[in-house]
Amino acid sequence: MSRAIYPGSFDPVTLGHLDIIKRSADIFDEVIVGVLNNTQKTPLFSVTERVNMLNEAVAGIPNVTVKNFDGLLIDFARDNDINVLVRGLRAVTDFEYELQIAQSNRKVAPDIDTVFLTTSIEYAYLSSSIVKEYARYGVCVDGFVPECVLQKLKEKYTIE
Ligand code: ADP
Repeated sequence: MSRAIYPGSFDPVTLGHLDIIKRSADIFDEVIVGVLNNTQKTPLFSVTERVNMLNEAVAGIPNVTVKNFDGLLIDFARDNDINVLVRGLRAVTDFEYELQIAQSNRKVAPDIDTVFLTTSIEYAYLSSSIVKEYARYGVCVDGFVPECVLQKLKEKYTIE
């Protein structure tokens, strides 16, 4: 059975992430979305909120599960007995960062490999940071995020 982890902060999940999740679920028998509980960053949404929003967003995809993790991604992968990581690429700027992470992960964990899916063109501009920036200033981000995320943003901000 082919299994992969799609890791990220997902603060919050966007339609761009969801597109990568759906496409990964078509490729692999099982996909675990790994939500990083990064203690170095202060996220807008707690890890529990991010996991709950993802769970709602992937409810219709039977071979996808959502889990949170702390610490190193490679340890999370090994704990789940998975040796494929999925990452999304939007632009050259993602590439430099992603290449460094994938290569260093391979250095310390040669048994684990990273595969990249390129963004669907309609989501190429989309990031969690852009969503948060617009929402903070009251812009409706309904074309950017799943409905459940829009509702959660409306609890935090006054959105048109
Ligand atoms: P990070 O893991 O760096 O905190 P995110 O949680 O925002 O980043 O994203 C997780 C993964 O999804 C990364 O590989 C990122 O490049 C990818 N990604 C984010 N937004 C998009 C998008 N609009 N289209 C395709 N991939 C995306």
